[in-house]
Amino acid sequence: MYLSRVEMTGFKSFADKTVIEFNEGMTAVVGPNGSGKSNLSEAIRWVLGEQSAKSLRGNRMEDVIFNGTQARKPVNIAKVTLVLNNEDRYLDYDFSEISITRSYNRNGDSQYLINNEQVRLRDIVDLLLDSGLGKNSFSIISQGQVEQIFLSKPEERRTIFEEAAGVQKYQYRKTEAERR
Ligand code: ATP
Ligand code: MG
Repeated sequence: MYLSRVEMTGFKSFADKTVIEFNEGMTAVVGPNGSGKSNLSEAIRWVLGEQSAKSLRGNRMEDVIFNGTQARKPVNIAKVTLVLNNEDRYLDYDFSEISITRSYNRNGDSQYLINNEQVRLRDIVDLLLDSGLGKNSFSIISQGQVEQIFLSKPEERRTIFEEAAGVQKYQYRKTEAERR
């Protein structure tokens, strides 16, 4: 399984539809300061379920929507789609290609889609739990996180191993079941 494409429309600095294709293996994203490298990684984390506006360098979720420049009017919707190549069926979903979409409107409407069908955020979280791709996983290591791992308490570090070992899914389901 690998990320094969990211499509962004109206997300942060990506006002127009922007499509970025990735191949298997390593990809480096380079560019001048302010060109949108961090915005791209935030777009990916956003679709994976990031709910904290602060961790996306904003104050409110609305701040992910392109808010205009001197030359351009703001837009009303941010929409990002990740396309995952799942030919190896690494994810427990019987499709070779899985698209996951999140959109957010200034009026507060959110939408989540898996292969163009409307789902809940929970379904996305469920699909990705223990895949190593979830928003709290270590597939995305941001600046400062390396030290955080070394400096964390043993109990906190245990969570890292649990995620890697694939037991978080069961804990999540247990908590959900207990709530009902
Ligand atoms: P650096 O090399 O400095 O880390 P970068 O390539 O990571 O730069 P980003 O931080 O991704 O750059 O992009 C920052 C740009 O995105 C800024 O110009 C900022 O104005 C713009 N930006 C952020 N949010 C929005 C928004 N909601 N609407 C329009 N532009 C935005
Ligand atoms: Mg940056």
